[in-house]
Amino acid sequence: MTDCIFCKIVAKQIPSSIVYEDDDLLAFKDIRPHAPVHLLLIPKQHISHLSEVEPSHQALLGKMLLTASKLAKEFGCAVRQDADGNYRGGYKTLINSGPDGGQEVYHLHMHIIGQGE
Ligand code: AMP
Ligand code: ZN
Repeated sequence: MTDCIFCKIVAKQIPSSIVYEDDDLLAFKDIRPHAPVHLLLIPKQHISHLSEVEPSHQALLGKMLLTASKLAKEFGCAVRQDADGNYRGGYKTLINSGPDGGQEVYHLHMHIIGQGE
């Protein structure tokens, strides 16, 4: 989609801090981070919002979650247990959908937000 800012990031027409890329997905740092780690993970294909997904997107959506888990680990946010068995670390995954969901950019994206190490 020509006037979509995230499609332009995918096409490398505008700069971004890319942290991950494969054939289907791109992840980059949020330009206005809410925490030390704040990544955006997007499908390269333009999907406007979560209400637009179809069964044909099932594998892509699953890959987004697996990739979010991998990236969170790489950025020091993995959930772990200390010697006493207490959970430590972690991160938020967030998909805002539509005006009531606070969506500003209409290209599906998952926020990955954590404190890192
Ligand atoms: P949302 O409210 O879920 O649509 O959030 C959109 C997010 O995209 C916000 O956190 C913005 O800071 C972020 N954002 C907007 N433009 C850019 C950009 N050019 N590069 C990186 N992040 C961006
Ligand atoms: Zn787009």
